[in-house]
Parts: sequence; C-alpha cells; structure tokens
Amino acid sequence: MRTIKAAFLDRDGTINVDTGYIGSPDNIELLPGAAQAIRLLNDAGYTVFGVSNQSGVARGFFGIEVVVAVNRRVLELLKAEGAHIKEILFCPHHTRGTVPEYSIPCQCRKPLPGMVEAAREKYEFAIADAIVIGDKICDIELGKNIGARTALVATGFGAEEKIKIDCGEAPAPDVFASNLLQAVIALSGAAPRGQF
Ligand SMILES: [Mg+2]
Ligand SMILES: [Zn+2]
Repeated sequence: MRTIKAAFLDRDGTINVDTGYIGSPDNIELLPGAAQAIRLLNDAGYTVFGVSNQSGVARGFFGIEVVVAVNRRVLELLKAEGAHIKEILFCPHHTRGTVPEYSIPCQCRKPLPGMVEAAREKYEFAIADAIVIGDKICDIELGKNIGARTALVATGFGAEEKIKIDCGEAPAPDVFASNLLQAVIALSGAAPRGQF
C-alpha cells in the first residue's frame, strides 16, 4: 500500500453550492476558490477525498445513481480547473428514512468514521497528517473522532454552525475559515502561488 497524506473534504456547502438535497448534476456550481484550494492540496502532496452524507437516498428523494452522477459532475468541474479529487465517498443512509434498504443505522454517516475507514482500506495514511474540512458540526466531529485536524468553513451552513460552536453546543475546530481556500491555507501551510 502506498502511503499518502489525506485530506477529507465535505462536498455540499464546502466544494459546491449547497442547494439542499442535490438531486441533479445540472446547475452544480463550485464555490469561489474551491478549485484553487484543491489544486493547492494536490500541489502540497495531499490525496483529496470527498466525504458526503447523502441521506436524500434513504429519504427517497433520489437514487444512488443520482449521487454518483452529481459526484461525477463535481469531479469534472474541478478537473477542468486542474483540481483533482481521488474519489467522493458518500453515505446514503439515515435511520429515519423511507427507503427500507437505506433506512438503517450505519458506520458511515458523518460524524461516524466509516468513510475514512473505507479510504484506509485502500490507502495508508497517518491520521496525524490528515485534515478534515466542512461546513457542518458533523464534519468537525468526524475529524475529532479520527484524530485529524479540522477546519469549519463559513460557506454553506458554516456561519450558522459556528454560532452553535460559539455557544458551546459543539466542539470547536482547529480553524475557522471563510472558505475552503482559507481553510486549506491554514491547515496545510501551503501558500497560493505569488502569495507569501
Ligand atoms: Mg456540507
Ligand atoms: Zn451510512
């Protein structure tokens, strides 16, 4: 197994605009700076994974194939800007869903570590070097659960989630960042070209 440095990024609200239970690859829009952030991670030697809770499958809003199509679109848009994500992992489950097959307790819904564990079956990486970035408390809790460093972005639900953290309702991340690019700069120590 080859050893990598791993970055786990939430998808909706962190990489692309979160329009809520995204059920179509049309109209997927990358957030400003997201492609640059992922390029920066690539250049800094990180292998980047998406980790996404997609309970819309369990809730019967859309099928697995829709999640796969949306993921493919996100990867294409990033690739067009020279940014590479190895794979977007997702959890289709929710205990209060309506589709029996997916309405089960699982180990992959964030903040549980199942998606990171799935990546670990294929790649070897030091958790101490791993980073987790997202717009929700569950993303920060995922990072804490696996022992990685974490950043909460202010995009998506991030600003609302920060209020809960400020009130002591949830653990604080290592970094509060305005967006994915600022989170990457803070956690990876990488600097965009031309900026020192
Ligand atoms: Mg999100
Ligand atoms: Zn799951």
